[in-house]
Amino acid sequence: MERITIIGAGTMGKGIALVCAQAGFEVIVQDIQQESLDKCKSYIDRFLDAGNIRYMTSLEEAVASSDLVIEAVLEIMDLKKSIFKTMDQFSPRHAILATNTSTMSPTEIASHTSRPEKCIALHFFNPVHKMKLIEVVTGLETSKETVKAAFDFGSKIGKECVKINEFPGFATSRMNCLIGNEAMNMVMEGVGSIADIDQAMKLGLNHPMGPLELADLVGLDSRLRNMEYLHKTLGEKFRPCPILQKYVSAGWTGKKAGRGFYQYDERGNKI
Ligand code: NAD
Repeated sequence: MERITIIGAGTMGKGIALVCAQAGFEVIVQDIQQESLDKCKSYIDRFLDAGNIRYMTSLEEAVASSDLVIEAVLEIMDLKKSIFKTMDQFSPRHAILATNTSTMSPTEIASHTSRPEKCIALHFFNPVHKMKLIEVVTGLETSKETVKAAFDFGSKIGKECVKINEFPGFATSRMNCLIGNEAMNMVMEGVGSIADIDQAMKLGLNHPMGPLELADLVGLDSRLRNMEYLHKTLGEKFRPCPILQKYVSAGWTGKKAGRGFYQYDERGNKI
């Protein structure tokens, strides 16, 4: 495996591209928005003097000679399916097609390709360069060879992999979304201030971050999409908190927007 393409240059795509370039892979980053590509490049340039990275807007060109393609676009099933269809048409026959979905079914995404045995979910965590884990989630037809290649890739970029059988929300998002949603319900019920609820989880339960500051980091729009999918697939206990819906409607999408449960300055520091 030498050449890796990342589809989507947002919060996750830029981090995945960075760790792949740091590990010595040839990297191509594709996004439909030039602005996202520019932001991604300036983020990566902060960490790397020189990297073998190219940026482009054409999906067909971006996947044409890759050994591994990792999709990190918005958490919208129809979008992922249509991108996988194109990835399948234009990438080499041997290429592995991976999705960084937080919750969704790699089986369903793979069903729009002619190579479901080479499709898998590689679930990275934010910020990618700091977080050790990749959840390797197998779909119904994912082959043993694809799982092995995923684990080998994980170890080359310095990550620990766990193998998870597909189920909505996998092992991590399912629990994390529930904790975050409960914290939001507690804010709504007046149980404590935003800062005190976060502090209670950090100092009382030894979480490295509070659930509300973590939701801001993830992006409240992304978190809402995760909750909506889990609500649809796993039922009532995943109903998104109304505060989350209200904040997203207002454009308060968390740290990237400068406002979510907390407010942030241009450098991303809490005000
Ligand atoms: P984001 O909104 O930060 O970035 C998404 C990017 O996809 C944007 O740059 C957008 O321009 C681009 N995009 C949209 N449509 C596209 C298309 N048709 N082709 C190419 N690019 C397109 O989103 P994100 O937070 O990076 O999330 C991406 C994926 O990673 C989602 O599936 C999400 O659930 C998952 N994920 C997110 C986190 C997190 O903490 N944010 C953690 C793990 C997994």
